[in-house]
Amino acid sequence: MSNFSDSFTHHSGAMHLHTTNSDGGVELTDLVSAARSLELDYIVVTDHMSLTARKLGHEGFYDNLFVSIGYEHNDSNNTNHYLALGVPRIASEKADPQKYIDQIKGMGGYGFLAHPMEQRHYFKQLPPYPWTDWSVSGFDGIELWNQMSDWVENLKRLRSFIRIFFPRRFMSNAPPALLQKWDELGRQRFIAAVGGVDAHSHSVNWGLIHFTLFPVKVELKGIRTHLFLPRALREMSGKQAGAALVTALRDGRGFISNFRRGEARTAEIYLQTAQGELLPPGAVKRNRQLTPATLHVQVPEKATIRLIRNGVCVAARSGMSEAFGINDTGLYRVEVYKGKHAWIYSNHFPVGNYPL
Ligand SMILES: [Zn+2]
Ligand SMILES: [Zn+2]
Repeated sequence: MSNFSDSFTHHSGAMHLHTTNSDGGVELTDLVSAARSLELDYIVVTDHMSLTARKLGHEGFYDNLFVSIGYEHNDSNNTNHYLALGVPRIASEKADPQKYIDQIKGMGGYGFLAHPMEQRHYFKQLPPYPWTDWSVSGFDGIELWNQMSDWVENLKRLRSFIRIFFPRRFMSNAPPALLQKWDELGRQRFIAAVGGVDAHSHSVNWGLIHFTLFPVKVELKGIRTHLFLPRALREMSGKQAGAALVTALRDGRGFISNFRRGEARTAEIYLQTAQGELLPPGAVKRNRQLTPATLHVQVPEKATIRLIRNGVCVAARSGMSEAFGINDTGLYRVEVYKGKHAWIYSNHFPVGNYPL
């Protein structure tokens, strides 16, 4: 029996959200009221090249909801999108991604490569915006699962309009090539993963058909990023909470879920060391001896729980709770599937000496 929930508070949130401050379809106030009605603990707004909402003082608590305001940087070709959090202003560089990564870090911010492996080429109204320069260093994480990308990728198999009217039903998984890349990069240094919504509540007009893609409440019922924090954000001041939130995202202190497959706010994924210490997913001090340990997974509904070590699935069991013995060093993570659809991806648990 664990007391993980006594030591860490679960925070369920949505990030990579656009508003009318760039090309999103909703006002910040509507986004905030939708997030509050869904009892999210935080949202992260990242308008394209805009920190207007932050400058207007809109970052902070709205009752128990914390609203963090970063922005999405892009280069002059509109590729290499980068989610910048915890920054006071927009980076000036527009050409070289390495330079804006460095500028954002220089301002004390953190950054995540946004939808880095978008590939679609078949839907000209919705072109891909991939990350093209993988020689870069110094970024803090990647957006592993992007709700908008996943949905649009599925349109290539469009057989009926049902996919458009029920967008969440067809979200399936994070891109396998990106998972592989993340598992490789993570063996060099810790790379956090986040999930992004990135829907824009667009209005679409196709002849007689007129509808809104991803109405705001639907937007927030998809990909979520969950964090385990030693102290609840709502017990902090706005300033402290802002810093604690972006630090936890940078350190990968949790997991990503697709709400469409199930509410995951009671899920627990953590490592228990032989000394009884409980560790959430995420970065640990290098060269720390953690083996032997047990990786505990608990989910609120029956599912397939998969243990991944260095990019390879080493165990898969069906159930609501599992305890995997961890005796070898390696870069571990957990995936939880409902049938053929991914439900949860944990962040990495780096166990042992790094680099491997
Ligand atoms: Zn983008
Ligand atoms: Zn975006």
